[in-house]
Formats: sequence, C-alpha cells, structure tokens
Amino acid sequence: MRLIAAGVAVAAAALTVGVAVPPAPQAPRITLVDNTVAMDPAPPYDPGDGSLPNGGTLSPFDVQDPAIGNLDPALLTAIQNAATAASADGVTMTITSGWRSPAFQQRLLDDAVHTYGSLAAARQYVQTPEASKHVIGQAVDVGGTGADQWLIANGSRFGLCRIYANELWHFELAADAMGNCPPLLPNAAG
Ligand SMILES: [Zn+2]
Repeated sequence: MRLIAAGVAVAAAALTVGVAVPPAPQAPRITLVDNTVAMDPAPPYDPGDGSLPNGGTLSPFDVQDPAIGNLDPALLTAIQNAATAASADGVTMTITSGWRSPAFQQRLLDDAVHTYGSLAAARQYVQTPEASKHVIGQAVDVGGTGADQWLIANGSRFGLCRIYANELWHFELAADAMGNCPPLLPNAAG
C-alpha cells in the first residue's frame, strides 16, 4: 500500500509541475463509455492520426502523442493549467480525444453514419473534417470521474467552454475577455 501511495504522490507532484509522465505500462486502462460513438468495427489504432487505443486516455501533458502535441498551443496551455487546478481539487482530468487528422475525423463521421443510419443523424454527434475544431487542434474531449463537471464549473477561468448541450465532455477555448462562455449549441449540427 505504501508503494502505491508513494507512486500516486509522485505522479501528482509531476502533474503539478507540468512534467510529462509516461504512462505506466501495467496501469489498468480506464474505459469510458459516455463519449465515444460506438465503433463497429473498431478502426485500427494509428497514433499518427490522433486516434487513441480503444478505451485509452491521455494526460494533457502527454505532448509526445499527436492527439495532445498537435493541439493549438493556447488550448494546450489552458487545458494543462485546468488539469493542474482540478488535480488540486482531487479530480483527475484526462483527454479522451484531442487533435484529429482529417482522415480520422472522416472515419468517425463514417462510423456515426453507420451507427445512426443517416448523415443528418450522425451530424448531431460528429462534425465533418471541414467543420471539426478537433482537426485544427482547437477542441478537447475530457475524461476522468467528475472532470467534465469540474470543467463546466471552473473552465471559464482558463478560457475553456463547453460548446454543445449534448456533449458534456467537449471543450474549446471560447470564453470572452470577461470569462463568459457563449450560449450552448444544441449539438454538433446546431
Ligand atoms: Zn469533441
């Protein structure tokens, strides 16, 4: 138990000072089921296109992964600062999706069309590559227990806003100079 506690303390300390912590190879993966379109079949994992292994998550400090490293620098700084503040509140914030290549975004859209039966239905959940803020590195999807609620409550301090009413986890750097977020859009099609 002492070893585990020490490991957590070291990881928390590293997060606080902004050092990238390589994922422990034996660490159990947290599977999030609330924010991914069902993959049928699952697309191949290609870290070069911004995809994550099925159920995988990254820390906002995993800049060696293109999903994090290709984020807009201002957004990257904001989400790192938010994650550090959340950590101080006992909330571990992970990234379930960050930058995506146009091809990966198209795959997500194609898959959503397959899942929901039409492009119109799919577009309520997945943007086109041309419209997605993920493709230009200006959106992140957060994971971790309570992290979305923490960011909804505190994100505007860092300029971070929830954008879509049907996506608790999707944030963009959208606050104005007064720290106000724009009105929620109903969904990705709205
Ligand atoms: Zn998103």
